[in-house]
Amino acid sequence: MMAKTLRIILGDQLNSNHSWYKHTDNDVTYILLEVMQEQQYVMHHVQKILAFFAAMRNFAYQLTKKGHQVIYIKLDDADNAQNFEDNLQRIIKQEGIQKFEYQLPDEYRLDEQMKALCQKLDIETSYTDTEHFITQRYDVRDFFGDKKSFLMERFYRAMREKLHILMNGDEPLGDRWNFDADNRKKYDGKVALPDPIRFNHNVSELKVMIDRMGVQYFGEVDEQHMEWPLSRQEALQSLDFFCEHLLPHFGTYEDAMLQNHISLFHSRMSFAQNSKLVSPAEIVSTVLSHYEKHKDEITLAQVEGYIRQVIGWREFMRGVYWSQMPGYEEKNYLNHTTPIPHWYWDGKTQMNCLSKCIGQSLDHAWAHHIQRLMVIGNFSLLAGIHPDDVDAWYLGVYIDAIQWVEITNTRGMSQFADGGLIASKPYVASAAYINKMSDYCKHCKYDYKKRYGENACPFNSLYWNFFDRNAEKLQSNPRIGMAYVTLKKMKPDEKEKIMAQAETYLSDLNAL
Ligand SMILES: Cc1cc2nc3c(=O)[nH]c(=O)nc-3n(C[C@H](O)[C@H](O)[C@H](O)COP(=O)(O)OP(=O)(O)OC[C@H]3O[C@@H](n4cnc5c(N)ncnc54)[C@H](O)[C@@H]3O)c2cc1C
Ligand code: SF4
Repeated sequence: MMAKTLRIILGDQLNSNHSWYKHTDNDVTYILLEVMQEQQYVMHHVQKILAFFAAMRNFAYQLTKKGHQVIYIKLDDADNAQNFEDNLQRIIKQEGIQKFEYQLPDEYRLDEQMKALCQKLDIETSYTDTEHFITQRYDVRDFFGDKKSFLMERFYRAMREKLHILMNGDEPLGDRWNFDADNRKKYDGKVALPDPIRFNHNVSELKVMIDRMGVQYFGEVDEQHMEWPLSRQEALQSLDFFCEHLLPHFGTYEDAMLQNHISLFHSRMSFAQNSKLVSPAEIVSTVLSHYEKHKDEITLAQVEGYIRQVIGWREFMRGVYWSQMPGYEEKNYLNHTTPIPHWYWDGKTQMNCLSKCIGQSLDHAWAHHIQRLMVIGNFSLLAGIHPDDVDAWYLGVYIDAIQWVEITNTRGMSQFADGGLIASKPYVASAAYINKMSDYCKHCKYDYKKRYGENACPFNSLYWNFFDRNAEKLQSNPRIGMAYVTLKKMKPDEKEKIMAQAETYLSDLNAL
């Protein structure tokens, strides 16, 4: 007979294919907990809170339906101690539990908490893998060893070879590893933009509950029609929708931005993936088999572009996280200290690109990669915002933001706070790039062509100010040599005007 066992399922561990659930067992009880502890480590977007609670409740219901024993602690249960440890201690005592088991958390914070709890418990404890990722926690660390920079491209190619994905023997299919040169175009209206797939969840009762409990949050929600996939079935529907309607143009327009269409050809599956409703292996095999059947309408460039994100960037970022934590949270290579402007919280800035990207984030708890990287992240880096503030904002606002994937993208890729471990150069750009990839500048009070003077676009002067003020740390980087050549060649009075303009803007970011 098995010892009476309690197994905790964290909110981002909703993997119904986990081997835990292969058999039902009367001696095993699963527990899911809604706790204030998880609402308070950062202020979250309201849709993020509601989506996690709704998905957890549905997961618990599905497990019960399959005959598993489940304890579900709701946020407003009278005896909820509002943290994992006290609740678990109580249930263990109450139910006469002899063994406690958990799946390895993806966040360092929770990993430490589970370890500490197990040390305190006087019953048997054990942990197991989440069986979600393709790689193991420390694969990236072992792959790069003590290298100063971790090049995603190297890892990605090794993954393609190891998994034999899009390969022709030992060579990449199409004789190229990377189709970025064919991809990443501005949206030119040549193909119609599909409406994103939207689900229709009424989460009003949950909203009433979080309000009654005094949960602090920000952002908007249409609580009678929340649009995110919240179950495995909906995640699979999203995947099918993506393959059929979005994959054919994913790569071509992956970097394009539009003010009246929030997602273009992006899958918007990151919440479903990060809560583990669907696995990367399933996504990859579905996308590849769809491609096999539709080669007449989908090019290799589109598929490669997507596969790169899933087996490349996503697995890579997770591995970087585990190779760098806990120290990564403290990184601030460029010593940035400026507080985040208040308009990050309401989108009320006259810079149209930021107003649209932040506004969309507040309305939908989601923005696509280039909006996050080349508009909001770009501005944060140029303006020298403290990485702690930037992290807190990104970790709170996005529905898919869990620290392992948020901090590596934000502090690492976007803010260069790790000194170039992930990004071989800072992701900064002037207004020319934003104008090239979007229609934002056409509708802006600022002039994207001007570097100084009335209504000069702030991105331009801040761009040169960024390189100028960080010359000591950056000018030896061969990938950005050209910026320093241009800066050196600049006429002194021109440079003076640009720097003066930047100083004016930097002195009052809230006014922009
Ligand atoms: C500053 C910044 C912060 C970010 N924060 C997060 C975050 O908190 N959570 C998160 O999941 N992603 C984050 N990303 C990565 C990326 O922007 C999102 O994964 C993507 O926008 C999610 O939308 P989608 O599902 O439509 O993605 P698609 O464009 O359809 O891409 C497909 C999938 O690839 C994966 N992916 C793509 N790029 C990345 C990446 N750089 N890192 C990890 N996975 C990637 C995601 O799982 C995504 O669902 C961030 C990027 C930046 C620049
Ligand atoms: S002009 Fe400048 S601020 Fe305005 S949308 Fe373009 S890049 Fe953004």
